[in-house]
Amino acid sequence: MMRPEQKKSPSDRKPIPVTRPFLPPLAEFIPYLERIWESRWVTNGGPQHQELERALCRYLNVPFISLFNNGTNALLTALQALDLPEGSEVVTTPFSFVATAHAIKWNRLTPVFSDVEPTHGNLDPATIEAAITPRTRAILPVHVYGNPCDTAAIADIAERHDLKVLYDAAHLFGVTRPARPPLRDGDLSVLSFHATKVFGTFEGGAIVCSSEAMKKRIDSLKNFGFTGETTVAEVGMNGKMNEVQAAFGLLALTHIDEALARRRAVAERYTAALAGIPGIGIVRPSVGVTPAWPYFPITVEAAHLGKSRDDLFEEFKRHDILPRRYFYPLISSFAPYRDLPSAAPEKLPVAARFAEQVLCLPIFPDITGEEIERTITVIKAT
Ligand SMILES: *Cc1c(COP(=O)(O)O)cnc(C)c1O
Repeated sequence: MMRPEQKKSPSDRKPIPVTRPFLPPLAEFIPYLERIWESRWVTNGGPQHQELERALCRYLNVPFISLFNNGTNALLTALQALDLPEGSEVVTTPFSFVATAHAIKWNRLTPVFSDVEPTHGNLDPATIEAAITPRTRAILPVHVYGNPCDTAAIADIAERHDLKVLYDAAHLFGVTRPARPPLRDGDLSVLSFHATKVFGTFEGGAIVCSSEAMKKRIDSLKNFGFTGETTVAEVGMNGKMNEVQAAFGLLALTHIDEALARRRAVAERYTAALAGIPGIGIVRPSVGVTPAWPYFPITVEAAHLGKSRDDLFEEFKRHDILPRRYFYPLISSFAPYRDLPSAAPEKLPVAARFAEQVLCLPIFPDITGEEIERTITVIKAT
């Protein structure tokens, strides 16, 4: 007689996804829903929305937040709020999720890709400076994997060239450092609360800004441009977060510290198991930064591992483990962008290498010890 676990073939094991949304017990969500049902106030800046904005300002230690129905609409609106002349150039990274560059195109601006640094895959300040032309009006960097960019160097460039800075901070939730919060850097920062992110409202996002006047403007832009009951000042969109999303955010916030602690424990186990394997690199947070581990990125050097990143990726799939190649392919290689002069791969060698070597391993708060060990075993067996 075989014991049940011996009978299991790889095909009837549950696949391990790269991430899984963190859902508190359903019973905890019911009282929030009851409040919404009682009030009949389901969207348009209701009580849950107002409370989540206040709670997030406190939790993230930032002065003003405007909630959105997703991070992409928040990015689009943030760029619109910077009032850049049509056709202006915005220096950005090819090593990100495609929405970063889409926000630039949607605003009828021109993305100019510049290369990243090799440690964290963030925009390299030296290459930003080299990409600046008389038409450049803004920089749109991404805090990739939640590792803060060199915000001091970027602020210095922006000041010398009179440029706006918008941070795509979709990965930054829960990351802290002893100095000022990285979410306070730049003119605006955008968060994503998509289900796959560290803090999620199923779909959602936010813009962080530093003045009440800017928050008012953003709140108008996300509400069709209304500035009063009968006045529309600008061409705004519908970027509003609804009350169910906001209520879920309030519930998720009550569990966020526990979720972050579990992510950190998973990252510690991976780090202990994988450090020192020739050909495997771990993209580690900078010293002094308290990481949130939205992803657990490793890099694969084929010459040392004897196997390419894609070989390892296929090997994982054979074991029902589904890591993701964030970010591959580079944004600059997608059809809407690849003909831009700045998109030529030879101009982006570090980003191209990152995209070819990186693999993000499964990490989420309720990943089991067995799932972590299964993942480690695949790498160790290569
Ligand atoms: C997730 C993500 C976005 C888009 O956010 P959505 O909420 O999914 O619209 C933008 N930029 C980066 C870097 C992301 O990871």
